[in-house]
Amino acid sequence: MTQKTIVIIGGGAAGMFAALAAAKQAPHARVILLEKTRQLLAKVRISGGGRCNVTHAQFDPKLLVHNYPRGAKELLGPLHRFQPRDTVQWFLERGVRLKTEEDGRMFPVTDSSETIIECLISEARKCHVEIRTEQKISEIHPKASGFEILFENQPPLTCTSLLLATGSSPQGYGFAEKMGHTIIPLVPSLFTFNVPSSPLLDLSGIAVEDAEISLKETSLKQRGPLLLTHWGFSGPASLKLSAWAARELHAKQYQAEINIHWLPSLSKENITQKLLSLKKQKPLKHLENENLFFLPSNLWKRLVRLAQIKERTPISHISNPHLQKLTDLLIQSTFRVEGKTTNKQEFVTCGGIDLKEIDFKTMQSRKQPGLYFAGECLNIDGVTGGFNFQNAWTTGWIAAHAMAEHNE
Ligand SMILES: Cc1cc2nc3c(=O)[nH]c(=O)nc-3n(C[C@H](O)[C@H](O)[C@H](O)COP(=O)(O)OP(=O)(O)OC[C@H]3O[C@@H](n4cnc5c(N)ncnc54)[C@H](O)[C@@H]3O)c2cc1C
Repeated sequence: MTQKTIVIIGGGAAGMFAALAAAKQAPHARVILLEKTRQLLAKVRISGGGRCNVTHAQFDPKLLVHNYPRGAKELLGPLHRFQPRDTVQWFLERGVRLKTEEDGRMFPVTDSSETIIECLISEARKCHVEIRTEQKISEIHPKASGFEILFENQPPLTCTSLLLATGSSPQGYGFAEKMGHTIIPLVPSLFTFNVPSSPLLDLSGIAVEDAEISLKETSLKQRGPLLLTHWGFSGPASLKLSAWAARELHAKQYQAEINIHWLPSLSKENITQKLLSLKKQKPLKHLENENLFFLPSNLWKRLVRLAQIKERTPISHISNPHLQKLTDLLIQSTFRVEGKTTNKQEFVTCGGIDLKEIDFKTMQSRKQPGLYFAGECLNIDGVTGGFNFQNAWTTGWIAAHAMAEHNE
């Protein structure tokens, strides 16, 4: 009997994790990982600012899927089989402890992505995964049972099952298309907003703990920490909005209006009430020095100024329409976005292999038997926080288990 061969194309998080799981699950099979570049796990190395945000401490799949603007419905089943708790356990069993930060992001305790890379590569050695780097694949031919992979400069390779884990690489999409798959158009996700006309640019570095940012003329809004930058806005709230509004913003060529609610836990009435009582209780105080909503003080001062309230005016001299203007700014400051900046910490591609063409119980193609997909090449992407790697681990693991059983 010929030896079963599983080939995985792409040595990123999804491909590597799948190779390890396949080798473990099918110890008698030959597992070959083909990577086009010289380096495995390149994105893992630079991820999370070099710390690798491996996953997120959300262990309820039903809640976890809310972090995926694309793929939430499809990932629910797979996440019931391999979820962040399994990721934590998988690394722990191999000597890598993860820690949870206040916002739920999980990193190796070493704060170094090298720890994750070393763990994955040493595991690959132990499981005898055949790793081949600098592979120039030219074509993939489906056969009656399995595939033939042709290379530019070496003999062909045949395999029983094939996993495409090529991330957002155009060549990977080309192979998938030739085997009958549809590629949902690719657009960037997880970027920050350029707002050159913002009157807050000089307040760069200020972080607001809880703000709500919404895209005008849509129902899209996100809440969380917001960072003022010298080019506009960044931080979790704006990154999340960029992910949920990735398609809308792309269609508008990143020219759009956003609204910011600086105090989303307070209603307009609450805010007005507090300002009016301050006026009554401390009539001689200066409003810019009475930071009654505990916003960063320079931001508070700026909003007071933007409401055209002159500095050092006793509160009793400020007209109610001016106080109303301040309330309006607090609940809805409007800014004009003119372009985007890709976040160095984490960015992903929205779009990819159409999810309707995949069986999520196995990650197998519905178009081509024996062909599997995992990771970012799928039309799945998460917001920032470790969700994109979790997609890679989960779909890689599911595909590996199915490939191990394929044709047995
Ligand atoms: C700067 C940055 C930081 C990030 N930080 C985080 C983070 O902290 N947490 C998080 O969850 N997500 C993070 N992400 C997103 C995360 O890195 C990706 O979602 C994840 O790496 C996707 O894994 P993948 O294996 O599907 O694809 P990739 O990591 O892109 O791997 C695909 C691999 O396939 C190879 N390949 C492509 N075509 C071929 C071919 N024809 N033949 C052979 N090989 C091929 C590529 O060279 C690559 O090695 C970050 C992304 C970036 C860019």
